[in-house]
Amino acid sequence: MVEICEYCKKEYSGNSCIGYFIIKGKKFERIKFGDESDDWGKDSGSCGDCGVKVGQIHHWECDVERCPKCDGQALGCECHDEFLFEY
Ligand SMILES: [Zn+2]
Ligand SMILES: [Zn+2]
Ligand SMILES: [Zn+2]
Repeated sequence: MVEICEYCKKEYSGNSCIGYFIIKGKKFERIKFGDESDDWGKDSGSCGDCGVKVGQIHHWECDVERCPKCDGQALGCECHDEFLFEY
């Protein structure tokens, strides 16, 4: 079974996702896999959770993605008020 991201409508593995975080009314670019401040997981070449490759944007709700504001886990932190999608 191929898993499709419900936001970008692409297969998880090997495709970059879309969208931005809106934090307190300000738009933040998302942190791509491999751009994490501590290079978390970069050596493996693809994200252990959502399957994107280095330089691609994680799919929404990936538990590896970092928050662009606090550098914490995006899924776990409470900075972002909403997601914004651009198609
Ligand atoms: Zn996606
Ligand atoms: Zn991911
Ligand atoms: Zn945060």
